[in-house]
Amino acid sequence: MTKIGVFLDYKELRELMVKTQLIPRGIKDARVLNAMKKVPRHIFVDERIQQKAYDDTALSIGEGQTISQPYMVAVMTELLELKGDEKVLEIGTGSGYQAAILAELAREVFTIERVALLANKAREKFLALGYNNIHVRVGDGTLGWPEEAPFNRITITAGGPKIPEPLLEQISEGGLVVAPVGDKFTQQLLKIRKSGKTFSKEKFTPCVFVPLIGEHGWKEE
Ligand code: SAH
Repeated sequence: MTKIGVFLDYKELRELMVKTQLIPRGIKDARVLNAMKKVPRHIFVDERIQQKAYDDTALSIGEGQTISQPYMVAVMTELLELKGDEKVLEIGTGSGYQAAILAELAREVFTIERVALLANKAREKFLALGYNNIHVRVGDGTLGWPEEAPFNRITITAGGPKIPEPLLEQISEGGLVVAPVGDKFTQQLLKIRKSGKTFSKEKFTPCVFVPLIGEHGWKEE
């Protein structure tokens, strides 16, 4: 078993992460806590920073992008109210970590990443870890994945000025979208629920994500 420093291996670090970062801050969904205990987050970051993988922080994954802080992954996942049979769309594959958590909790995960290099790295990780219910596409996620719509759940892991219209069109009846919305530097987590022709909106924690860049997001600089 790999030992980190003197005392803890990765499994123990994950247990500690759940105990000290997630439970005290109010994450309650037992399925979410179990998924966070199970998925090897260190596999989704570069080898030279693997020891930091379970720290209470976002980490660089190259290409100017980040893997979200564990707590933020847990909050967003809990807000998605996954029971096990959902078809989920994620915009912003990044390292692939959040997609792996979603794959533990839902039936199928479709994830879109605009940076091909990151998408390819994530694909390799899914293969190595045996996640065969995750499908990766390279492209502009603000357009959604129309061929696979509708989705029971959609989550965006990059910050945009609004929820992209095509995504609202691709959500199923009774479905949910969870996404950070705001300006380029600070956002707020929103949960949108579709029932009939109406969308209801709830606001949650302030947060900071890398920008959502695309036709229905920010323009590339
Ligand atoms: N969920 C990721 C965090 C990703 S950071 C994880 O668990 O690691 C946000 C990612 O969104 C970045 O990789 C960025 O390249 C990507 N991104 C930004 N705009 C996008 C868009 N329009 N479509 C798809 N991916 C996008």
